[in-house]
Amino acid sequence: MSFWPQRYVSDDDAYSLLELLEKITKAGKHVAIMAHYNHCREMTTPLAREAMQRLRATGVVIRTQSPLLNHINNDPDVWVRMWREQVRLGLVPYYMFVERDTGARRYFEVSLVRAWEVYRRAIQRVSGLTRTVRGPSMSTGPGKVEIQGVSEIQGEKVFVLRSIQARNPDWTQWPFYAQFDPDATWPEHLKPAFGEKQFFLQDEYEAMCRNKSAAKTH
Ligand SMILES: *Cc1c(COP(=O)(O)O)cnc(C)c1O
Repeated sequence: MSFWPQRYVSDDDAYSLLELLEKITKAGKHVAIMAHYNHCREMTTPLAREAMQRLRATGVVIRTQSPLLNHINNDPDVWVRMWREQVRLGLVPYYMFVERDTGARRYFEVSLVRAWEVYRRAIQRVSGLTRTVRGPSMSTGPGKVEIQGVSEIQGEKVFVLRSIQARNPDWTQWPFYAQFDPDATWPEHLKPAFGEKQFFLQDEYEAMCRNKSAAKTH
C-alpha cells in the first residue's frame, strides 16, 4: 500500500485484482489487507489515497502495521497523526512493531522502554476507535510479545511482558517479567526478573526447535 500503491491503481492487472477481491467479499467472506505505513506522509499522495479508496470499495478491511523506527517515527506525535488519519479514512490501526534485529538496525533501533513510552504517549491521545492498535510488539521465535509496561515489584524494576500470539496457544495472554534494562532493544537482551533462570516458555520452545531440526534431518 505504501511502497507500490500502483498495485491497486495502474498495474495491468489492478482492475482484475480488485474485481477478485470484490467477488470474495460479495460472497460473504472477510478479507483483511495488512498495510505497512511508517509515517503519515506515506498516506498523503493522490496515488496512495486512490489505492485506499479503490481497495475499500471492494469491501475488504485494511488494517495497518508499522515498526517504530528511529529517525522516522520515534515521536508520539507522528503516531497520533498517522492513526487518526487512518481511522478517518476507514483503516484499522492494528500493530506497532519493535524494529527487528535484522538489517540496518543500528540506525533504526529504539530501546524497548522508549518504544513503550512512544506507544503509551500516543495511545493516550486517541479515541477508543483508534485503540485497536496492539503494541509495542516484538516478533520473536516463540511468537509475538507485547511490552505492557515498566513496573516495580517487591523492590525490583521490571518490564511487564505479555505473549499475544504464540507457537503454543496456551502461552497467549500469559504475563511475564524481565529485569528492567534501559538499553535493551530486543528480547535477546532481556533477562528474567526475580532471579529466575529462564522465561516460562523457554524449555518448551527449545524442545520445539529440537524436534523441528530433527524432523528436517530425516
Ligand atoms: C502479526 C502479523 C500480521 C497479523 O497477524 P495476526 O495473526 O492477525 O496477528 C501480519 N503481518 C505480519 C508481518 C505480522 O507480524
